[in-house]
Amino acid sequence: MQTSEILKAWNRILQGGRPSLSIEITRECPLRCPGCYAYEDQHLGGGVTLRVLNDRKGQALVDGVLEVVDRFRPLHLSLVGGDPLVRYRELETMVPLLLARGIHVQIVTSAFRPLSASWDLLPHMNVVVSVDGLQPEHDVRRSPATYVRVLDNIAGRRVTIHCTVTAQMMKRPGYLKDFLDFWTPRTEVQKIWFSIFTPQVGDTSPEILSREERRQLIADLLVLRRQYPKLDMPEALIRQMSSPPSNPSECVFALTTQTISADLKTEITPCQFGGTPDCQSCGCIASMGLAAVAEHKLGGLIPVGAIFKASLKIGELRAPRPAELKRAQGASASG
Ligand code: SF4
Ligand code: SF4
Repeated sequence: MQTSEILKAWNRILQGGRPSLSIEITRECPLRCPGCYAYEDQHLGGGVTLRVLNDRKGQALVDGVLEVVDRFRPLHLSLVGGDPLVRYRELETMVPLLLARGIHVQIVTSAFRPLSASWDLLPHMNVVVSVDGLQPEHDVRRSPATYVRVLDNIAGRRVTIHCTVTAQMMKRPGYLKDFLDFWTPRTEVQKIWFSIFTPQVGDTSPEILSREERRQLIADLLVLRRQYPKLDMPEALIRQMSSPPSNPSECVFALTTQTISADLKTEITPCQFGGTPDCQSCGCIASMGLAAVAEHKLGGLIPVGAIFKASLKIGELRAPRPAELKRAQGASASG
């Protein structure tokens, strides 16, 4: 993040807004990935789940997303799901309208269907394709978005490949290197990102990295980032993985990102994972990236994180959140 972007985000916070917005634009997804947080019972706080939320289609979705964006005026917008490509026609319409508002737009997808060629030349637009490891593991977890289909669907496009590292991957030495060897030479791939699987509190799933596996991953990434230029993970970000925020109130990403679910009303808290995420096991690249930014000292003096946190308090006083969002938040919290 450049200083000019930090200053823009700071200004947005002081106005009572959050610089980043994430919208689950659909409740639908053709995949059933193990460990998917979006469909967990507690994702929306309990009581209602993403699968039964009233979502929108067609022009109603386009209008609804634009209304939310115009209300929150983010600098950065992530369109997620479900899988946002379920609504590919609506995306074709809404993406240029969002970019025209000066917003950086990111679409996070499994690439289960072809990406739009019209997005190739758009500035400030990033398509992130989730890939769960090498082909044998990925194809089991992500069918029907298998390697063969993903490769077909991204052919000729420009994408960022994002892999969530699990304990199973770390049990095989050289796994990440093999992953990078596969994806780095492909011309479609502009960047490669790794996150660490983030569990909920009390979760015991086999995907969770042990302390030693996390330490090994960090050591591996620090070496690999020098060997693979497309591995777009600065050293400061990787090092943050060894000391994730202790709770959501310490997470600059959660504090500066608004997340809205598919009815375009329900707020997901405390971050995109919803429920009660285990922050101390978090390895989300967005959280680690902003934690690294937060440590950066503006003018060599005051850490950005301290400025953001103080500014959030000022911003909240200046611009209380819309009433309907507070109601949604209450429903979510009371479950
Ligand atoms: S593609 Fe994404 S939203 Fe769909 S099941 Fe997999 S992880 Fe969940
Ligand atoms: S992004 Fe990670 S550290 Fe931040 S609130 Fe969510 S789980 Fe916690």
